Amino acid sequence: MMKGTLVERIRNQADIFVIAGPCSAESHAQVSSITTNIVATNKVNMLRAGIWKPRTHPNSFEGLGLKALPWLVKAGSLLEVPTCTEVANKTHVEAALKAGVDALWIGARTTVNPFAVQDIADALKGTKTPILIKNPINPDLELWLGAFERFNNAGLEDLTAIHRGFSIYNHVKYRNVPSWEIPIAFKEKRSDVPMICDPSHITGNRNLLLEVSQYAMDLNFDGLMIETHPSPDKALSDAKQQVNANDLDALLSKLVLRQPNFSQDVATMIDEIRSKVSVLDDELFNLLSDRMQLSEEVGILKRENKITILQQEHWSSLISKRLNQSEEYHLTPQFVRTLMDAIHQESIRHQTRIMNPKTSKSS
Ligand code: PEP
Ligand code: MN
Repeated sequence: MMKGTLVERIRNQADIFVIAGPCSAESHAQVSSITTNIVATNKVNMLRAGIWKPRTHPNSFEGLGLKALPWLVKAGSLLEVPTCTEVANKTHVEAALKAGVDALWIGARTTVNPFAVQDIADALKGTKTPILIKNPINPDLELWLGAFERFNNAGLEDLTAIHRGFSIYNHVKYRNVPSWEIPIAFKEKRSDVPMICDPSHITGNRNLLLEVSQYAMDLNFDGLMIETHPSPDKALSDAKQQVNANDLDALLSKLVLRQPNFSQDVATMIDEIRSKVSVLDDELFNLLSDRMQLSEEVGILKRENKITILQQEHWSSLISKRLNQSEEYHLTPQFVRTLMDAIHQESIRHQTRIMNPKTSKSS
């Protein structure tokens, strides 16, 4: 039922392309009521529902399988909105296509496995099915890109990326850390692929959906996938992160959408500021280069006196001094820590070269 490619639809969407629907299809009534209510917001461009659910523990709700497929397809055709569901193997692919689902997504636990991705790509050969590929659960950009290559090699061109964050043990804030640098690096390599953010699985918490969605919009993402449920607290999977149709509507209305490009007069002002920034960057790099030269002088003394490169106490005092100054310099402690660690690592590399000229060439 979908006209044109999904990539074109996403690219031609004037504002944000929104995919919404329940984490899992739980009953015909649930799918029908939530899809009807979210479509009534006039802000939803594609319906989702999980039919087969990859759950962490075997006794959790693992989706209703085949019998739930027609509920999603029926909702899509009644409401005239295309549909998508997750597939993890060839059997899922065949069943979903036979039932008339418009697009398929590859879940994070599947993208991580090249054998599974290849089997799915092979099963789809010869079709023009739109595929949405979630990032793998581990922060591995190449593995994510590799999944796209497997579909491309099978002749599938209508591909979209979904950023759903990366698995981490006991994070204080997020269920899956966003590590925004990874989708940014992905966009650098595959500017032909639209990027959708899935704040539901990043946050695992409905109260954080707005801040993560806004962040994605400010990084010029093309759309959002948000899990919705008629009674979120009663959901059989991912209850804490789902929202009802009213909350979805409110959340989307609160988003501030910004343009990716400057107008001419603003561009002139920005260029002026940017050239000042560039002068400061020159100074920073000159200073860093001078600093490394001093580190090398220290390295020579360490070599001559048979002293280890790492001087833990000295380093700890340097770090804590700068961390204490972070407020004074209007820098976040996280940035100060990352910057100082990077400087320290580079300094260790310089001293390693000085101290072990024969063995350190490639490090
Ligand atoms: C989902 O979208 O319901 C899902 C299981 O997602 P992920 O693969 O991102 O965990
Ligand atoms: Mn889910």
